[in-house]
Amino acid sequence: MIDIKVAKSAGFCFGVDRAVKMVYNELEKGTKVATLGPIIHNQDVVNDMKNKGARVIESVDEILPDETVVIRSHGVGKDVYEKIKEKNCRMLDATCPFVSRIHKIVSEKSAEGYTIMIAGDESHPEVQGIVGHCSQNYIVFKDNVELKHFFEKNQNFFGKKLAFVAQTTYNIIVWKKCMDIIPKGCPDIVIFDTICNATDTRQSDAAELAKSSDCMIVVGGKHSSNTVKLYEVCSRYCKTYHIENADELSFLQLPNAVKIGITAGASTPAYIIKEVQNKMAENETIITNPDEEVFDEAAIDKSFKKIHTGEKVTGIVQTVNDAEISVDLGTKHTGYVKLDDLTDDPSKKPSDIVSVGDEIELIVVKVNDNEGTAQLSKKKVDEQAGYDKVVAAKENGEILEGTVSRVVNKGAIVNYLGVRVFIPASQSGLPRGAELEQLNKQKVEFKIIEVDEDARKKRAVGSIKAVRDAQKEEAKAKFWETAEVGATYVGKVKSLTSFGAFVDLGGIDGMVHISELSWKRIKHPSEVVSVGDTLEVYIKDLKPEENRISLGFRKAEDNPWQIFLDNYKVGDVVKAKVVSITSFGAFAQIIDGVDGLIHISQIADQKVENVKDILSVGDEVDVKIIDIDPESKRISISMRALLSDADSEEDAE
Ligand code: SF4
Repeated sequence: MIDIKVAKSAGFCFGVDRAVKMVYNELEKGTKVATLGPIIHNQDVVNDMKNKGARVIESVDEILPDETVVIRSHGVGKDVYEKIKEKNCRMLDATCPFVSRIHKIVSEKSAEGYTIMIAGDESHPEVQGIVGHCSQNYIVFKDNVELKHFFEKNQNFFGKKLAFVAQTTYNIIVWKKCMDIIPKGCPDIVIFDTICNATDTRQSDAAELAKSSDCMIVVGGKHSSNTVKLYEVCSRYCKTYHIENADELSFLQLPNAVKIGITAGASTPAYIIKEVQNKMAENETIITNPDEEVFDEAAIDKSFKKIHTGEKVTGIVQTVNDAEISVDLGTKHTGYVKLDDLTDDPSKKPSDIVSVGDEIELIVVKVNDNEGTAQLSKKKVDEQAGYDKVVAAKENGEILEGTVSRVVNKGAIVNYLGVRVFIPASQSGLPRGAELEQLNKQKVEFKIIEVDEDARKKRAVGSIKAVRDAQKEEAKAKFWETAEVGATYVGKVKSLTSFGAFVDLGGIDGMVHISELSWKRIKHPSEVVSVGDTLEVYIKDLKPEENRISLGFRKAEDNPWQIFLDNYKVGDVVKAKVVSITSFGAFAQIIDGVDGLIHISQIADQKVENVKDILSVGDEVDVKIIDIDPESKRISISMRALLSDADSEEDAE
C-alpha cells in the first residue's frame, strides 16, 4: 500500500489568492478586464479567466479605452504606473503587499544613496518590478556564487552603502548562504529579509515532507518560480516530479515508492491539488496530513483582519537582523520593528532582545494597508507596562528602584521602564544646597508622588526623600520599642553645638551634653569630638513624648576623682605639678583631672608673702596629702608638712 501525504502548506498563497479574486470579482460585475501579463503561472486558471472575458496583455500600449487593467501580484516598476496614468484608464493594483513592501524599501534606500542588491532572477517580472523602483544603482545576483564573484571583482563596493533585498520567492537556503558572504558589522550595509513567509513556509514544509518520503510530486506552473524552487528543495531529499495538473500523472513513471508526498506552488488552485490527490487515490490510500493547510474561511478572515494604530497585538518573531526584526501577526501585514522601537538602550542589538520564534506583545505604530506593512513597537509596550507599574506604585506607596540618567536644572531624572520620573531637588533626600550632581548615574530608591494623567506623556514625579523619611520613621519606631535607660549604642557624631554633640543612633538622634563629653571642664564639644567620629554612648534619660534622648559618654571607671579615691589617701606623698597660682596658694595636679590646693601657709615653714616668690606654674613639687573632702571634691596638699616630717626625723636621730 502506498501512503500519500500532502504538505502542511501547499497551493495558493495570500497574494495570488487576492489577485485571482480581484479579477473574478470584476468579471462577475461585467467589467472588461485586461491583466498585465498572466495573473498567475497557472494555465488552467488563466484559460478560465479568458473564457469569462479577461484579456492577457503584455504592455500598457495594448489597453483598450474601456478596459480595467489589473496589475498582478508580482508588481510592476514605477514607469508602468506612470504610463497607465497617462493612458487615463481604470487600474486595479493586485500587487502583493509583500512585494509592495520591497518597492518601498528600495525606493527609500535608493533615495538615501544606497546601491540596491537584489537576490533573485533578473528575468522574473517581480524582480523587474523591484528594479523599476530603484532610482539609483542596483545589482541583481542569482545566488551566493554570483554574489561572491561580484565582491571579488568589485572590492571597492565594500565601503559603499548597500541595501540587500530578496525576491519574495527566493530560496531561503541560498539566501542564508548569501548572508554568510556579506561582511558582518558593517554599518553601511543593511539587510532586509523580504522572502515571503508563504514561500518560506511552503519550502520548509515541503522539505520536511520530502525528508520522510520516497518521492515527491510538486504541482504548479512550469514557469512558476516558487514551484520550481519547491521542486529544487524537494529534489535534495528524494526523487521529485514537477507536474502542472492531474493529467500529467499518467506520464510519470513513479519508482517503487511506498511514501509519496505532494506539495504545490503558490499559484496552484486548491482544486488542482485535489484532482492530483483524487487521481492517485483511485488505486491508493491517501493520508492527508492532519495539519494540512486548508482554506478555511475563519483563517482567511483572520489574515485579512484590520489592525489599527495604537492597537496592542501579539506577534511571533520571524527574522532578526541588525537593523530590525520582522514579526508574523497572523494577519497579512508584514510586521516589522525597527531597532529604535525595540529598545532605548543604544548598546543593544535586536538579537540581544528577541530571538526567532519568540512571541511578543507590540503596539502598532503605523499601518500601511496598501503595502501590507505594519510598523510596530515593543518599546511602547514596555513603556505602557512601566507606566502601569508607576501608577500602581503611586497608589500603594511601593518603593521603586532606578538609576539617575541625568541631573537637570532643578532635579534629577530617572528613566523607569520608559517612564520619565522627575525628582525635584527638594525631594532628592540631599540637604538643602547640596550638589545634585552627586546623584548622577547612582542607583536610587524612590516613591512616586505624582503621575501625569496623560498616559501618552509617560511622566511622573518621584521622591527619594519620601523613602528616606519612611525609613527613618521605621527606624525610630524600632528604636523606641527597645530603648531604655542604660542601653548602649554606637553612633556617629552628626553635628556639634556649643552645648553638646548630636549623635545618630540609626535613624534617630540623641544628644551628649557638653558636661557629659569629658570629665574635664571643656569650653566647646569640639575639644573632645568631631563631626563623623564614632562614639560609644549610653542612654542617660529618655523623653519619648518629646522625642528627646539624653546620652552619656563619660564612663564611671574613667572618672578621675574616683581613680584618685581608689588610689590615694591622706598621708600619701605624691609629685604634683603646679597648674595655677592664686593669692591664697597654688593648685597642683596630682593625676590627670584632679588638682590639690597648696595653701600659702603650706608652702614653706616660714611665712610666705607672695606665692610666686616660691612657686611658678609648671613646677613639679613633692607634696603630702593632708586632707580629702569627698563631698566638695577638695584635696589639701602640703609642701610644709614634708619639711616638718624631715625635721622630726632629724630630731629623732
Ligand atoms: S508568494 Fe508571497 S509575496 Fe508572492 S504573491 Fe504569494 S504572498 Fe505575495
